Amino acid sequence: MVRRETRKIVQDGNKRVHLITRPHMVNVRMRVRGPDQVIVSGPGHCTFTTLWNFYKRHQKSVDAQLLEVEKSNVLPPAFADGQQLRWHGAEYPLSVRQSASETMVFHDNSFFWQTKTASYQAGLAAYRACLGHLLTGYAADTLKEKYSRVTVQVKPYIAKWGLCRPDRKLLVLNLTLAVLPSRLTDYVISHELAHLDVPNHSAAFFRRLEELEPDWRRLGQELQSHRHVHLG
Ligand SMILES: [Zn+2]
Repeated sequence: MVRRETRKIVQDGNKRVHLITRPHMVNVRMRVRGPDQVIVSGPGHCTFTTLWNFYKRHQKSVDAQLLEVEKSNVLPPAFADGQQLRWHGAEYPLSVRQSASETMVFHDNSFFWQTKTASYQAGLAAYRACLGHLLTGYAADTLKEKYSRVTVQVKPYIAKWGLCRPDRKLLVLNLTLAVLPSRLTDYVISHELAHLDVPNHSAAFFRRLEELEPDWRRLGQELQSHRHVHLG
């Protein structure tokens, strides 16, 4: 019998704690997802109480991580006219217009948001969707000549910077790359492309990566320094 995952959200002060059981997990794991979001996940036999107690035991490290996340949060305080929004490591002004729909686009070095509600949540959703389009388009442009048969998807909240599915010739990029310098997107693309040829992290993999991106060591370290950056 395959049990499905179960979820429960518990509010703890200003934090939302997501308790999740996943049948295939072996150990309990905890991570900070956003400035006020904590994920605690464990194997199928765990109860929500077990996960909650785990969270309580590690409260100190959670608070330290939340602080880090807050420091490196790249989101603006508001989605309002003139506010600077990030794309690939640079900042561009936002212009807001009342409309019947909710869409954000980027052109001529500016973000344009058409909005019905002008609420922060709507702004965040529109901004994230816009970054998703930008990053997907950027990656497709990067790949189109030499790797026309490779497809790219962008996903928020994947636990890694990128994923590769060699069987489907599919690369998946973490949405957060959209706010970091473009060289880091290029680096992750090279890393995942190397996985098309070598699925593991063996010496052969790094030889292939070296061909695609000679500066991979430095870029890998730079990317690692952004591990707390979060898009909400
Ligand atoms: Zn890898």
